[in-house]
Amino acid sequence: MKDCIFCKIIKKEIPSDIVFEDSKVIAFLDINPASKGHTLVMPKNHYELVSEMSDDDCKHLMVSIKRISDALMKLNQGLNIVQNNKKVANQLVPHVHFHLIPRNDKDGIKIGEWAHVKYKDNEASNIIKKIKEFIE
Ligand code: 5GP
Ligand code: ZN
Repeated sequence: MKDCIFCKIIKKEIPSDIVFEDSKVIAFLDINPASKGHTLVMPKNHYELVSEMSDDDCKHLMVSIKRISDALMKLNQGLNIVQNNKKVANQLVPHVHFHLIPRNDKDGIKIGEWAHVKYKDNEASNIIKKIKEFIE
């Protein structure tokens, strides 16, 4: 995709610190890392959202995430895997990517500090019904 910064990195038009690459996937260090080793893993094909990806690209990406996670887990105490879809969910770059964020004791990184909501009567079962209708 012409104006996509991550497509430009994939095409090597913009430099990046590449951690892993094969024919379908690339992983490089985040330019503004939350911790040392913060890696972005993504398909080389351009999709904005994870929900738009082909099953084949999805499978390959997940296996790559697992392999890189394994390496990062050997170097750190823990790991957060974060993936944002759309601006409302903090997606800044519209090329699907997963953040692999190494975690260590007292690193002070705040992830997943959301407030909790409560379901009213029958609300959960209605939501389940709606989600099931849309699962293809
Ligand atoms: P998002 O909010 O879309 O999930 O995350 C986008 C991430 O991409 C941010 O963490 C940001 O630091 C990173 N990023 C944006 N532009 C570049 C770039 O040109 N190079 C690299 N390596 N990372 C980038
Ligand atoms: Zn792209």
